[in-house]
Amino acid sequence: MSNESEARAWVEVDLDALRDNYRAVRRAVGARPAIIPMVKADAYGLGAARVVRAIEPLEPWGYGVATAEEGVALRDLGVRRPIVVFGPLPPRSVARAAAAGLTATISEVPALERWAAAAGEEPLPFHVEIDTGMGRAGFDWRETPRWAELVRERCGERVRWTGVFTHFHGADSADPAATETQWARLQDALGQLPVPRAELLVHAANSAAALRFPGFAADAVRPGIFLYGGHPAAAVPGVPGPRAVAAVCARLVLVRDVPPGSTVGYGATHIARRWERWGTVAVGYGDGLPRRLGNQGRGLLRGRAVPFVGRISMDMTVVDITDVPDARVGDVVTLIGRDGDSEITVDEVAEAVETISYEILTGLRPRLPRVEKDSWTGRT
Ligand SMILES: *Cc1c(COP(=O)(O)O)cnc(C)c1O
Repeated sequence: MSNESEARAWVEVDLDALRDNYRAVRRAVGARPAIIPMVKADAYGLGAARVVRAIEPLEPWGYGVATAEEGVALRDLGVRRPIVVFGPLPPRSVARAAAAGLTATISEVPALERWAAAAGEEPLPFHVEIDTGMGRAGFDWRETPRWAELVRERCGERVRWTGVFTHFHGADSADPAATETQWARLQDALGQLPVPRAELLVHAANSAAALRFPGFAADAVRPGIFLYGGHPAAAVPGVPGPRAVAAVCARLVLVRDVPPGSTVGYGATHIARRWERWGTVAVGYGDGLPRRLGNQGRGLLRGRAVPFVGRISMDMTVVDITDVPDARVGDVVTLIGRDGDSEITVDEVAEAVETISYEILTGLRPRLPRVEKDSWTGRT
């Protein structure tokens, strides 16, 4: 652990674990499909620059982002591989995306015309999204002959059609039926495209699909959450989990013994029933620790669980450390991650507040410095 950190609270990012998770995706899909790590939202909050630096030596095909700005930031880091912007570009972002040599994803003919209008000397690459049930973007799979011809007609000197993809809405669900249906719809649409299949990179699978349906890996897979240590299909037995990548740690900054009747936190929702020892931890919902964990979550201190007492404040959280008498101010409290034999997973935290690991990770605020653990660079 990064005990030497001077921060009050921080996120530790284990880049060895990240690379192991990438290799697990590779093993699951076999040698042929390309891998497009999704690094949108600053690599799910863990830092796109460091994630790309860690993954580059593993030679991914390219990267997936959500916005033109995210793609430009990767170019500024020196990334030369394809960078695909997933999701329709706002018209005002088109010029920037084109200038950075990004690959647009196209869901309608007017967007393709805007993309073409932004081309310079070289034709701009684009992938067509086919909506097979996700409903947020893409051409309708049922109308393929109509739109596909309009798309083909516009290809040439200004734009180059290089890929086709869809997105599964339920690859994490126990029932595979929805994903099988979407796959069949994609195949149906692919069979009606007026361009040779070999010219197009075909892709569909997110993390859950890459691990559960390797037969749907097509030419490329787009893992996100699994790389960052979130379980892609926690509800499905037998799906392998990732190695944990993110740990959230904070300092114990105050220790007090309080008499029965003492109250803690806004609303005084916890009242000491006996003499208790309380520890104040320098982390709160202003750092991304979900406020709803108040009175129900826990941290780890010296390898032992310490329950949260009272509501979580913006910057502080109080834990009951009565059972950890050796605890001292300055100790590290782990909110997510491993301490000795105990572990709090990001999935467990997400489940406790009825959300998904994605929201917990992307909710970790910039106020928490990211500390890298990386045996390749010797950083810990
Ligand atoms: C975010 C995203 C992914 C990655 O999904 P995970 O569930 O995080 O693996 C893949 N494809 C698209 C289009 C996405 O937006």
